Amino acid sequence: MKLQEIKEILTANRLRLTKSLGQNFLHDRNQLRRIAEAADLVRGDKVLEIGPGLGALTQCLAERGATVLAIEKDRRLFEILHSRCHDCPSLSLVHDDALEYLRNQARNWLDWKLVSNLPYSVASPILVELAQATGCPARMVATVQLEVARRLVASPGDRDYGMLTLLIRLRYERVGWFKIPAACFFPVPNVDSACVTLVRRREPLLAPVQARIFERIVKRGFSQRRKVMLKLLKNDWPSDRLAPAYGQLDLAPDIRAEKVSLEQFVALTRLLHGTEGGLHE
Ligand code: SAM
Repeated sequence: MKLQEIKEILTANRLRLTKSLGQNFLHDRNQLRRIAEAADLVRGDKVLEIGPGLGALTQCLAERGATVLAIEKDRRLFEILHSRCHDCPSLSLVHDDALEYLRNQARNWLDWKLVSNLPYSVASPILVELAQATGCPARMVATVQLEVARRLVASPGDRDYGMLTLLIRLRYERVGWFKIPAACFFPVPNVDSACVTLVRRREPLLAPVQARIFERIVKRGFSQRRKVMLKLLKNDWPSDRLAPAYGQLDLAPDIRAEKVSLEQFVALTRLLHGTEGGLHE
């Protein structure tokens, strides 16, 4: 979809865009192609797209043979897209808040791919919601604010490494990412974006019950970033459980969460799992 076409549709419908809904439309054909390619689509693939807007990405996905379920919150955009695509058998369009939809539907997304230029205000909660679903999507190709992308691909010790990194990467491996300059969107946002590709791990690193403990450890560990993780974890676990676990993992008692790797968090979870008797509520 060209910039001119986007402007014409907006003018014809007298549509004023809503900033709080992150309505910046991607019009750069090259970037749209790169996103669709990152999805590695084969005919018949099921794709979840959140926030189709005027349908620029939706169109690319459908052209590559995907069956798309697109969820749009803004009724005006939903209606425009609905009237433009009413005869597209490969598109199911839903008018809803995507986060509420995901929470209410409790659907199995195991054989789905998320491919979306996400609304920035809800990008992180949407990714976490999907990553923590029992049936999480096989692949997520998410265009997000550059700052969020950096968190998704960060490594221990990086400034951007934190809760979001770990909650997503427990279930997903990063495959690649590329920057998308702000000028590729209309209206031009005041930040750059990036498209991140994540692929679900072949085998989950933790069982669902352990994953909840992992989340608790990570959230507590990062609750005060500059503090020593051991001190923070003592809010939830007694010292006589933490000390041997730290010893077994060779974790320095003064290490901060930002230096602890995913593998170390997973190992700590396994050691502390089953010690919930000692978990202070
Ligand atoms: N996919 C289009 C594109 O690439 O040009 C539009 C992307 S735009 C960044 C984000 C879209 O998400 C907008 O259409 C906006 O109305 C929609 N949106 C915002 N919040 C939403 C939510 N909670 N649930 C579903 N859609 C939402």
